Amino acid sequence: MEQICEVIVDIAHANVDRLYSYLVPEGMLVFPGSHVLVPFGSGNRQREGFVIRVVEQAQAAASDETQPSVALKPLLRVIEPYPILTQEQIDLAYWMQKSYFCLLVDALRLMIPTQMRGGKVKEKIERTIQLAHPEEVDVQLSSLLDKSGKPRAPKQYEVLETLKQSRIEMAVADVLAYVPDAQSAISALVKRGYVVEGGHVTFRRPNISALTADKQVTLNATQKSAVQSIEQAMKAKGGTLLLHGVTGSGKTEVYMHAIERCLASGRQAIMLVPEISLTPQTVGLFQERFSDGIAVLHSRLSAGERFDEWRRIRLGRARVAVGARSAVFAPMQNVGLIIVDEEHEGSYQSETIPRYNALDVATFRAKQFGAPLLLGSATPSLLSYYRALSGRYTLLELPERVQNRPLPVVEVVDMRQEFQAGNNGIFSGKLAQYLSECLEKGQQAMLFINRRGYSTFISCRNCGHVVLCDDCDISMTYHKGENRLRCHFCGSVKPLPTVCPACGKPFIKYFGIGTEQVEEALHELFPKAITLRMDTDTIRTKDTMQQMLTAFARGEAQFLVGTQMIAKGHDFPNVTLVGVVAADATLLIPDYRSTERTFQLLTQVAGRAGRDENPGKVVIQTYSPAHPAIRYAREHDYKSFYHYELEQRKKAIFPPFSLFVRILFSGDDEAILHTGVNAYAEQLKLALDECLGKEGEKDILLYSASPAPIKRKQRAYRYQILIKLLRTARLSRAIQTIYTFAAEHRGEIYPMVEVNPQDML
Ligand code: ADP
Ligand code: ZN
Repeated sequence: MEQICEVIVDIAHANVDRLYSYLVPEGMLVFPGSHVLVPFGSGNRQREGFVIRVVEQAQAAASDETQPSVALKPLLRVIEPYPILTQEQIDLAYWMQKSYFCLLVDALRLMIPTQMRGGKVKEKIERTIQLAHPEEVDVQLSSLLDKSGKPRAPKQYEVLETLKQSRIEMAVADVLAYVPDAQSAISALVKRGYVVEGGHVTFRRPNISALTADKQVTLNATQKSAVQSIEQAMKAKGGTLLLHGVTGSGKTEVYMHAIERCLASGRQAIMLVPEISLTPQTVGLFQERFSDGIAVLHSRLSAGERFDEWRRIRLGRARVAVGARSAVFAPMQNVGLIIVDEEHEGSYQSETIPRYNALDVATFRAKQFGAPLLLGSATPSLLSYYRALSGRYTLLELPERVQNRPLPVVEVVDMRQEFQAGNNGIFSGKLAQYLSECLEKGQQAMLFINRRGYSTFISCRNCGHVVLCDDCDISMTYHKGENRLRCHFCGSVKPLPTVCPACGKPFIKYFGIGTEQVEEALHELFPKAITLRMDTDTIRTKDTMQQMLTAFARGEAQFLVGTQMIAKGHDFPNVTLVGVVAADATLLIPDYRSTERTFQLLTQVAGRAGRDENPGKVVIQTYSPAHPAIRYAREHDYKSFYHYELEQRKKAIFPPFSLFVRILFSGDDEAILHTGVNAYAEQLKLALDECLGKEGEKDILLYSASPAPIKRKQRAYRYQILIKLLRTARLSRAIQTIYTFAAEHRGEIYPMVEVNPQDML
């Protein structure tokens, strides 16, 4: 019986985002998920595609009577011998297509390494050699000797001797380590027929080195009971659990023990961590505990490493996948547990098409496999905690640090008072004093500041002019190291102005503190101390981050200055002081989540201090000491913060009580954009009103069309329609209307729909 297969062609275009049938040539093995080459279109160009279904021809004809029986084109070939997509991944792609209104092919592309498409990366074959006739090796060795008993070809002799001793096949690279420069000697031995060559597929693995030795700890009572609950959920085959544990409460140990139980039951585990905390430290720890059973997926891998790590999972060699957002698509077939660490992090929301939320995808996958989903955080998102309190999630709590270690004492310094007292430096008297005490005791400190660069804006004291990027509507940042201005949006640079570009007067002044300036101030205050600075300017290559963290862990520097990068996940036992140089920067961002984000950030940063035997101290410098985000962070009081913030959200009907949809437009001609967006907004409103009907009249809480908060980005003007919708049973219908309308109105202006955008600027 002939087989037909249905294929999605690897072209991201709405017009071809559907199944095409092909004939399977006799003898070709094709499965759902196979990666294939097909002739496509009238010109029969070769295209890659993914097989979604395989059916017997009689069956296909019976089930599809509408399709005229045209002669089907045959498949050209199967690219990899195994299906590169699992059935669960195919089902997931269909679910994503429905939930995020994306192309099926865009969803499928997320599931395999990009390098696999177009055959850009190949398997790495490790060359090997072994003795051709081991029983004759002694004879062969003596044949290489001259009359006086000295080897005539010393390299050949040595290689043969090495192979004799090893007795088994050896990698050429290993042989060369014993006998340097023996390449031609090996060829000669092959020619003589003494040695035969071979090869194996090998897996390129990222260079993972452990920064700290794996301590085998005994779980304390609360950790044990958390692990028990997770185990129960694994037995019950499902459910979502929220692990709320203060910083240093040993959440990572809970994850690792839960994963051990999962593996013991013969199943696999996925653990997601934010990209930013996917540090060598975390990865090293997992590597030590699970050795080669883990695969790591993150953006700092080389193409070859990514490809090979993915294949190690696909081929069942790795049973634990640790990675950033996209690891949620890991090609596993028997998942028993999915963990999302730091579940409150915004980075789980993808900002590129298709805009999926890794938490939603994790929820779907967990259901697919009958596995529990474990969310963990010291500062759970309002939404997750809300669900836990309402009983949808099981709440697990680790309210104390391990071994009765105290949470650090947090002191808040009012920078207005510092200024009045005559201190206009970067450090308050208190922070400067603690820094010097820290040095004296031989301990380490971390200083957190939200901005990189030296000064965050440059303005004229005569006319007030602020130097903006030519292409974006934001101020430029002064970078002292490279001695020029840089736009943090588009990366463009400008020379330093000596006079004001607007009024021509020489009263240019620099405002706002960045990481470079903190580093410099530390150096002035403590010339002998060594400071490391970690931000996207200093972390350029995939190894610099690791080197810097290793150096700090070894005590080669006393101070670590950095942006968000240093805020999370790190566990440095000798850090006893954490300083937040300016806590206000995040509070001032015009977003309904800025209070929540500030609280989370401060709590996380503070959590870096005093994680080992020596107690920690935290100093938060701010101009708004009474702000609830700062007050509750000082008290380490998540619950009170939660109730306060939830009350605010309820009053203003902000999420989780409502949902934001933003439709963003951009274009070079502001007038066209402006009229286009207004017309779009009017028509969409009519469509929404019709969809919601009389009963849903009050569902739309806000509906506005206006320039985006940052009106220009990389030369393009930006306008937006902002819609706030009440959470009711009609919500998904309304969202569907918005998406459908967008798909049907892609004309002169191009709508980009974002549900719950992480960034509203
Ligand atoms: P969290 O992720 O909650 O901030 P970690 O899991 O990093 O905390 O744990 C903090 C430190 O405590 C780590 O160094 C870890 O090895 C150690 N630790 C965890 N659990 C225990 C335990 N039961 N006994 C002793 N030390 C522990
Ligand atoms: Zn710019």
